[in-house]
Amino acid sequence: MVINGKWNKNHFTISFKSNCTTFSLEENASTYVCSFDKTGRFWTGLTNGISYRRGLNGNIVAKWSSGKEILHRKWLNENETKELLIPAHQKIRNLLQEIDNNHIDINSSIPYSGIEELQMISAFGWEKYIQEIFQYSQVYCPVGILPPDQYNAIVLQITEGCSFNTCTFCTFYKDRPFKIKNPKELEDHIYSVLSFIGDGMSLRRTIFLGDANALVVPMKHLIPMLETIHQKLDVEKLGGIFAFLDGFSGEKKNHNDYQMLNKLGLKRIYIGMESGNNELLDLLKKPGNAQDVAAAVQDTKAGGLSVGIIILLGAGGKQFAHAHIQDTVKLINQMNLDADDLIYFSELIENEGMEYTQAAYQANLEPLTPEEREAQGRQIEAGLVFTDKGTPHISRYDIRDFIY
Ligand code: SF4
Repeated sequence: MVINGKWNKNHFTISFKSNCTTFSLEENASTYVCSFDKTGRFWTGLTNGISYRRGLNGNIVAKWSSGKEILHRKWLNENETKELLIPAHQKIRNLLQEIDNNHIDINSSIPYSGIEELQMISAFGWEKYIQEIFQYSQVYCPVGILPPDQYNAIVLQITEGCSFNTCTFCTFYKDRPFKIKNPKELEDHIYSVLSFIGDGMSLRRTIFLGDANALVVPMKHLIPMLETIHQKLDVEKLGGIFAFLDGFSGEKKNHNDYQMLNKLGLKRIYIGMESGNNELLDLLKKPGNAQDVAAAVQDTKAGGLSVGIIILLGAGGKQFAHAHIQDTVKLINQMNLDADDLIYFSELIENEGMEYTQAAYQANLEPLTPEEREAQGRQIEAGLVFTDKGTPHISRYDIRDFIY
């Protein structure tokens, strides 16, 4: 339902959707927009040409463009967060008061359910946000990373951390040991995730099994875990279950296993292939080799799942660039990917403390510039050949954009 009106001669709209409530106001020749989930939490906003998105962990990313294709990004600090959130809720509080006092013109009366939603947004104060950040830390080990098409998933950490944790370019899980949750811990975790997200669940699509390598869990434990998830959530309605896989882990799964997991709602797995070049994979200390990835993709697809393949652009610098492109193209072309699959190009993001950066320095590897990394992605893409079963969706994966 959409309500249009005038407030101090400015046009405003309130859109009550099944998953969120959006308020927009045309003010001083610019548009102010903010959306809230069904618990009243701020979700997204737009003001002065800057867009904002808040994650469940309380982090807010601001993005704006300064010309064609130049996009800037900033994570807000506590003061900036306050300056965004407090006025957003205050605006709704003021609006409600004006509606109460009959001071605004609206095209139709707001139903009681709409007034209740606005009251809930009004009541969501700064203290509640502080409380939410604490609650998040009780519910989740910080969610390290998700594939870009899964940022709106409900994350269930059936495992914590990474069973390898060796890769020199990855710092997501260095802070935690690998652990598989036992049945009681999983039940408690699901319960606390659902009560934390609450009515905000309506914004969520799909279920993502955390953390880095949840499918390493042996089948005899994984199946009861998925059954438990089915008892608590409508998996089909949510769009199915998704997870990362390292193709190279302990108890390898075969296509019969994947078929069974597919019957239990698993739809797609994401594999950090990084490169088709084994020498480069060794340098990255990636577990397993390129052929292991190809075998895992074959088994996965034979089991009825789709795959998301992640390629690391810029890895190995100039010295590895040629071999990285050649071998990556060759390996992907052997995978028989189709229109259900995804290919992500993810730029290597370095920092000084990173083991990769140290190793690259010692090996005298000359880094690629961001433009050269982009060009590397285009060169790989240009070499890919697909069958008449269709072309996978190919896109960029910037880990700096990740928000949950
Ligand atoms: S296997 Fe994946 S999550 Fe684990 S360390 Fe390597 S890149 Fe990171």
